[in-house]
Amino acid sequence: MLRVQDLATAYGPVRALDGVDLAAEAGVITAVLGANGAGKTTLLRTVSGLAAPNAGTVTFDGEDITGWAPDRIVRRGLAHVPENGGVITELTVADNLRLGGLWRARADRERTRREVLELFPPLAERLDRQAGTLSGGERQMLAIGRALMSGPRAVILDEPSLGLAPMVTARILRVLRELALTVLLVEQNARGALSVATHGYVLSLGRVVADAPAADLLDNDRLRHAYLGF
Ligand code: ATP
Repeated sequence: MLRVQDLATAYGPVRALDGVDLAAEAGVITAVLGANGAGKTTLLRTVSGLAAPNAGTVTFDGEDITGWAPDRIVRRGLAHVPENGGVITELTVADNLRLGGLWRARADRERTRREVLELFPPLAERLDRQAGTLSGGERQMLAIGRALMSGPRAVILDEPSLGLAPMVTARILRVLRELALTVLLVEQNARGALSVATHGYVLSLGRVVADAPAADLLDNDRLRHAYLGF
């Protein structure tokens, strides 16, 4: 389980996160929603060690990982899929996948690679292609596949549906749910995220303004209109 307590992260005078508390339960999807600038990306960057918090703690399966270097956090089992995927466009699909788990034992890497290619068949057909030639959906599959190559217990994802057709988005969200990992999913596509999530949080100006089971957030007209835009 991933837990964030009283987390504050600032960029100079800008308080991007201001006392955020949240928990992502093991084995299910927790959605983090909110408008542009709400602090969602900063939250994920702070959890994965890419941004340093001014206050608060991040604990993962009972261990305080606050302030750890990003590579140590990945090795401990928490993988980050950044906005736009962050795949290396000049490298092949196969090499991008390889980079996701370089330090793991060969047998583990090969087993996970087979699982990833079963999960995302379009990748299996394009192993030798440069990642830059993939469609948006394939690129997102590669980004998720690369994160899975590290053998994570938890994955945090920044807007995996950005720019994708609804059917592709639905497929990716479905795969995430089937993985049964601990998932913290940041999305602007609130309806799509809540349809696969167990629990949801709404961020606004760096604070949690709602925290409820996903079904309750979907049913709450006031919240939907005020913060979720549908
Ligand atoms: P988006 O959906 O647009 O990515 P977000 O909810 O992810 O939005 P953040 O990107 O975390 O929000 O931004 C939170 C606040 O921090 C915003 O006010 C933003 O302008 C500010 N901010 C983000 N990154 C930086 C930075 N590198 N330097 C200064 N301010 C930043």
